[in-house]
Amino acid sequence: MKFISKIALSAVALAMMVSPAMAEKTVKWKLAMTWPSTLTPLASPPAKVAKLVEEMSGGKFIIRIEGKEKHKAPLGILDMVKGGQYQMGHSGSYYWKGKDISTIFFTTIPFGMTTAEQYAWFYYDEGMKYMQQVYDRFNVLNFPGGNTGVQMGGWFKKEINSITDLKGLKMRIPGLAGEVFAKLGVNVTNIPAGELYTSLDRGTIDALEWVGPGMDIKMGFHKVAPFYYTGWHEPASEMQFMINKRAFEKLSPENKAILLTAMKAASADMYYENFAASANAWEQMKSEFPNIKVKTFPLPVLKEMKKATDELLDSYAAKDEQFKTILESQRTFMKKARAWTIISDYNYIKTTMDVE
Ligand code: CA
Repeated sequence: MKFISKIALSAVALAMMVSPAMAEKTVKWKLAMTWPSTLTPLASPPAKVAKLVEEMSGGKFIIRIEGKEKHKAPLGILDMVKGGQYQMGHSGSYYWKGKDISTIFFTTIPFGMTTAEQYAWFYYDEGMKYMQQVYDRFNVLNFPGGNTGVQMGGWFKKEINSITDLKGLKMRIPGLAGEVFAKLGVNVTNIPAGELYTSLDRGTIDALEWVGPGMDIKMGFHKVAPFYYTGWHEPASEMQFMINKRAFEKLSPENKAILLTAMKAASADMYYENFAASANAWEQMKSEFPNIKVKTFPLPVLKEMKKATDELLDSYAAKDEQFKTILESQRTFMKKARAWTIISDYNYIKTTMDVE
């Protein structure tokens, strides 16, 4: 009896050893990201994916991360993943607007959806479908890669009281928001991250936007510009994971499931990490620099920004059928999502603040 069970056990052991899953070699991938390795929380999702993938695969799937400091091509990520030099990338979809204007929808747009609204659009409406359609031409798969939540409108040395205060103002503000501000007379410039503090301090620029307290505090802008404007232009900036399509197709079903699960967990986690960092940083900034004034752009200025945004979006839609389709999808979903946000989150905060 003992002997037979021993044979049975060895047969099972043997079957396990030669089963395809066990026979599989360790998969080794490389991921290039737009950020330096130290720039958390943006650099956090790739590190978390690598850790989760290694643990869940029992060390059979390894992803090595390379930050900007190593590959020196922060805005070459899409090309490098497409070309297969890297199997994966981590970046921001709106950096590719020169290749395809529709890529902006998968990061954020001015006056667009909040994080919760946008994730609902991605996962339970048409977002993932359109994101894949847009990235098909690059032969890469694209997935949400972490959200910053509402970004602040930026640090200003002088208060903005009217639209005329924007005329000739020198500001670092990239992307579609930069195009909007340029339409309103702002002298939009782009300056490398490392030179921003000095440029603001010396008056080379009058204002800049970065992210929110959690990331801004490390840059020190609050020490040289007292007006901190609330957000309008990046209400829910989503990062992106890119995967070379051929590389993904070569993965086993187990590794595919592991990778997809790890990316979803790590991207959700970036939002929590950044939220906590901003809550802590804002408390610290306020106590160390009580002269900081949080401002909201005056309503007539915001109305001009909204008008310029709509004009820009509509002009792109007139030239590009795919852009038009995705813009309509976002506008339709946002309308019902916002109605719910207003009676839920917005009213909860408003009414409970009134109690205080
Ligand atoms: Ca920003």
